[in-house]
Amino acid sequence: MAMTTPADTDHAVYKTLLESTNAIPWKIDWKTMTFAYIGPQIELLLGWTPASWVSAQDWAERMHPEDRAWVVDFCVSQSQAGHDHEADYRALTKDGEYVWIRDVVHVVRDTQGEVEALIGFMFDISERKKTEEKLLILQKELEELSFKDGLTGVANRRMFDSIMEIEWANARRNNQPLSIIMLDIDFFKQYNDCYGHIQGDECLKQVAKVLASAASRARDFFARFGGEEFVLVLPETDAESAKIVAERCRNLVFKEQIPHAQSAISQILTISMGLDTIVPNHQDTALQFIEQVDKRLYQAKQRGRNCIVNAS
Ligand code: GH3
Ligand code: MG
Ligand code: MG
Repeated sequence: MAMTTPADTDHAVYKTLLESTNAIPWKIDWKTMTFAYIGPQIELLLGWTPASWVSAQDWAERMHPEDRAWVVDFCVSQSQAGHDHEADYRALTKDGEYVWIRDVVHVVRDTQGEVEALIGFMFDISERKKTEEKLLILQKELEELSFKDGLTGVANRRMFDSIMEIEWANARRNNQPLSIIMLDIDFFKQYNDCYGHIQGDECLKQVAKVLASAASRARDFFARFGGEEFVLVLPETDAESAKIVAERCRNLVFKEQIPHAQSAISQILTISMGLDTIVPNHQDTALQFIEQVDKRLYQAKQRGRNCIVNAS
């Protein structure tokens, strides 16, 4: 009967430990580029038997084609340099599916310091990758949502602030005119009182939709400024062109023929507008400019509403 030595017992313990973890251990002999060992768990995860892992070539071939080139290049160069490393890639299963793997590699050197073998662990990170992908999608959605007005779907005030900062700087740098139109629905409080808030919301959506189509240049920007107020930013647009856009806004809303029985000036819904154009210099601030446009909007209200107040 063969004697069991303490070394044999240790070996058995380590083997049991290695082969019962979720991480899949493996060893590649560097000179021959062949597998000296791979844990039996590999078959459970990918379907390939341990015996089918013969050379490093098998490893490279059982990898997603999009990952293969960089992973092989990276692992070979790191190993040659003697650096421990890790790589995430999609491993091919026997059924033709892919599983995300993180391979963590330790470079073993001989007494002369030459690379002798690579030993490593493969971890199944597919769940983590799925979570990461979901998080990325959510993050993108959140970014989009946080710049979008919830009711009307057009850009919100926050987006306006960001765009305004960019366009202001652009206009100043390039010495170009920048125009802004502020638009406010007339007697909207009465509209809500008369038709109810739900109908008021519907009306806001309808107005936002038509106004969003008023300006069509690539960098023209439309947002809900707040409540029943909207704003148009028109880069590289002089006062005359901006006036044309403002007139178009008035016509677009007029064409909708939204009934407003309680309006003091008309039987249909109307809007008032303030408009200004600037070639910003270093003393000017965007805030002052916006305040100036707002003042003109206020003047439009005082002049009887359903009109545009500009420089002339
Ligand atoms: P003016 O002609 O001077 O602009 O009068 P106005 O009544 O339109 O102006 P005011 O700013 O006094 O009132 C705006 C109203 O818009 C008050 C508020 O209830 C309504 N409003 C603001 N946001 C919303 C919204 O999201 N939905 C609805 N239904 N109403 C809103
Ligand atoms: Mg109003
Ligand atoms: Mg208002």
